[in-house]
Amino acid sequence: MTNQNILVTGGAGYIGSHACKALKAAGFVPVTYDNCSTGWQDAVKFGPFARGDLLDRQRLAEVFEEYQPAAVMHFAALSQVGESMREPGRYWRENVTGALNLVEAAVAANCLDFVFSSTCATYGDQDHVVLNEDSAQLPINAYGASKKAIEDILKDFAASDGLRHVIFRYFNVAGADPDAEVGELHQPETHLIPLLLDAVDGKREALTIFGTDYDTPDGTCIRDYVHVCDLVDAHVLGLNWLKDGGEDRVFNLGTGDGFSVREVVDQSSAVTNRAVPIVEGDRRPGDCTKLVSGSNRAVNELGWKPTRSNMETMIRDAWRWHQNTDGHYQK
Ligand code: UDP
Repeated sequence: MTNQNILVTGGAGYIGSHACKALKAAGFVPVTYDNCSTGWQDAVKFGPFARGDLLDRQRLAEVFEEYQPAAVMHFAALSQVGESMREPGRYWRENVTGALNLVEAAVAANCLDFVFSSTCATYGDQDHVVLNEDSAQLPINAYGASKKAIEDILKDFAASDGLRHVIFRYFNVAGADPDAEVGELHQPETHLIPLLLDAVDGKREALTIFGTDYDTPDGTCIRDYVHVCDLVDAHVLGLNWLKDGGEDRVFNLGTGDGFSVREVVDQSSAVTNRAVPIVEGDRRPGDCTKLVSGSNRAVNELGWKPTRSNMETMIRDAWRWHQNTDGHYQK
C-alpha cells in the first residue's frame, strides 16, 4: 500500500468518525465519503471530506479518481432495526444498491481492499445457538437482510474481480471517544444507551423498555456491547490484515458477555449516580431475544485486544461525551 488514503464511507457518522480518528493515529489519511443524511459534517475532523451519496455513481467515480484510495472502509448505511421493518425499500435501496455502486466504483478504480461493517443481525433470532462466524445467517429484519446481501455481493466480486475483503459482524456498539472529540448522536435517537442518558438528565421523560416478556432471566432482550474505540481498532487491524496478504475473512466483534436491557439500565444508574426513569412497553418488531458473540476469532487471528469494552467504561465514556458536548454537532 503506497497511497495512505483510505475511503471511509459514513465517516461523518458515529462509528465512521471514530474509525477516522483511529486511522489517522495509525498513519493513514481517512477520506470521508458521506451524504450527511444521518452523519454530521462537524464529526469529520481527521482527514478530507468528500460529500457524496452512494446512489450517485458519477460522484463515486470522481472521488476514487481524485483520491486514489488504497482501500475502502464501508460504514455508510441505514442501521435501525425498527425503521427497517417499517421502510424495507429504503434499506434495500440505500444499503444494498448503495454498496453495489461502491463496490463497482472500487473495482473500476482497481481499489481492491475492502473492509465492511456488517452486523450480528444477519444471524437472526437463534438465541440457543452459539453465534460464531460459521453460524447460519437467518436475519429476521430488513436491516439484517440488507447487510447479509452486501456480504454476498462482496463474495461474488471476490470471485469475479479479486475484491479482497474483511467483514466485521458487530454486536452492539457503545461508548465514545474518551477525549470526547467524537461521540454518538443520531437524530432521531433510537439506541438504548444514548436514550437512557437522555432520560437520566431529563432530556426525555423516560426510557421505554421494549418488551419485558422475552425468554430471558429478567424478561428483557440480551445484547453483547462492544466499545466503539475497540471496534474501530479491529478495523485498522483488518486493513493491515489485507495489506499483509491475509485471506478474505469474517470476524465477529463482540465480547461474549450478554447484558439485558434492565442490566444496562442498572449499570447506568450506578455510573451516573442517578435514577433512570423507565416505562415498560411492548416489544419492538424485528428485535431478537439474545445476540451474544460466541467467537474469539478476532482475538486469536487478528490480534484484537479490546480494552474498553466493559459496561462501566462504555457508559462512563458515553456519559462524558453526553455531558461535555451536550450531545450536539451541527450539520
Ligand atoms: N431498547 C429499548 N428501548 C429503547 C431502545 C432500545 O428497550 O428505547 C432495547 C432494544 O429492544 C434492544 C436493546 O435495547 O433489545 C438494544 O437496542 P438498540 O436499538 O440500541 O440496538 P440494536 O440491538 O437494535 O442494534
